[in-house]
Amino acid sequence: MNVSYDPLYLFIGGEWISSQGRATAPVLNPATEVVIGQVPLATSADLEHALAVAQRGFEQWRATVPAERAKVLKRASALILERVSHIAEQMTLEEGKPIAEAVDEVTRAAEYFEWFAESARRIDGRVVPANRPGVLQMVKRQAIGPVAAFTPWNFPAITPARKLSAALAAGCSVILKPGEESPSTALALARALDDAGLPKGVLQVVFGVPDQVSSQLIASPIIRKVTFTGSVPIGRLLSARAAEGVKPITLELGGHGPVLVFDDADIERAAVEGVANRFRGTGQVCISSTRFLIQRGAYDRFVQRFVAATQALRVGDGLKPDTQVGPLANARQLAKMEELVADAVAKGAQVLAGGESLPGPGFFFAPTVLADVPMDARVMHEEPFGPIAILMPFDKLADGLREANRLPYGLSAYAFTRDARTAIDVADGLEAGMIGINQYRIVATELPFGGFKESGHGSEGGIEGIEHYLTHKFVSQI
Ligand code: NAD
Repeated sequence: MNVSYDPLYLFIGGEWISSQGRATAPVLNPATEVVIGQVPLATSADLEHALAVAQRGFEQWRATVPAERAKVLKRASALILERVSHIAEQMTLEEGKPIAEAVDEVTRAAEYFEWFAESARRIDGRVVPANRPGVLQMVKRQAIGPVAAFTPWNFPAITPARKLSAALAAGCSVILKPGEESPSTALALARALDDAGLPKGVLQVVFGVPDQVSSQLIASPIIRKVTFTGSVPIGRLLSARAAEGVKPITLELGGHGPVLVFDDADIERAAVEGVANRFRGTGQVCISSTRFLIQRGAYDRFVQRFVAATQALRVGDGLKPDTQVGPLANARQLAKMEELVADAVAKGAQVLAGGESLPGPGFFFAPTVLADVPMDARVMHEEPFGPIAILMPFDKLADGLREANRLPYGLSAYAFTRDARTAIDVADGLEAGMIGINQYRIVATELPFGGFKESGHGSEGGIEGIEHYLTHKFVSQI
């Protein structure tokens, strides 16, 4: 497939600003390591401009009736769906994921705009009976103000879509800074919103030196709300910056998803679908299943099936239709996989599949299965965020739960069992914001997406997703 990469811009005040006269950063195709584009980096003056127009955009958009906001979001959703093939190809070029996964992601991104278009029309308040006669007490929910949103490179459509759809439905304006390594997808969403009639200044998309952009935006009194998806250390940093200005922040910071597979489970399903889940997005998925904890009686069967299914995966350029696992998104991720596997092996882990980078250009790492990984290996603590699965046995439910909950993460967790009592107990005992029982599909537009502990706080999606973009205000009137 011969696909060309779209030019990249900043989008401020409804203008598409090219890279001319600005510093740029190269965008690589991770399957070939060829530079495919240059992303313009916003200057401090660009960011000041973005802030000023976001303030004006907010004043206009919050005064736009919900039905009109809903219409714009629905039109944008339809335009994204019309353009799905093109947007997905751009995403595969810049991020590397297989084209079928990219199509699925863009389709789900469109669904968020549709879902929150409906939420826009359901932002209601309350009238609360007063304890004095003649007093009218109302609770209103209103848009919180201009939002600074930061999204990563691994899901370049769905992470901006979750934030933009809810914030815009609430009546907020947004300055979005997507990951510089996969910039065109977010611009395609912005293009759809622009074409759908979003007033100029309601959405700005900027790229830049991430730390400079976040310092300047979060420190500005114009910004009233911060939302970030990315790593725990950066989440912590942005939290501290938001706290300086007493600004609320929503954080989605990754995980180290445990899977509890009990003796009585459908082992074939848990293993084969587990492989698909673990290596989707080349493992660069925050809700991915990472540690497979298998009850002793089923361990050998599970391992055999899991390893065979892993070895059968086709790794390659995501633009080839038969590719199941693409490259890692950048050289950092490849180096990290090499380090994590070398560290685990040096400490005594066994490599049952993969274990090394693949030859040739591109950031390819073989889908890897590790067993007998000692507790002091880094991969037992750090989110691998790549194609590494850890298999380990457990004996009793309490042992499995203890290991599942051992880490400071609390994002996703999974369990496979045919026993209703076990299912109830694990769902109760797992410390995770999202839990799949007998399945790995845990994300849906109508459900809240988010975690707790160091995986962050606040949910995106579902009826909960709009709440962070609203403030409560009471009016007591005689
Ligand atoms: P990172 O946290 O440095 O970067 C993630 C995103 O945050 C990037 O798009 C980056 O542009 C942005 N970012 C970085 N520093 C920032 C700052 N000071 N202000 C504002 N935005 C900033 O992560 P990385 O080096 O790209 O990846 C390292 C690890 O982070 C991964 O291995 C993975 O564990 C984790 N991660 C998690 C997610 C997720 O979905 N939760 C996404 C990306 C990375």
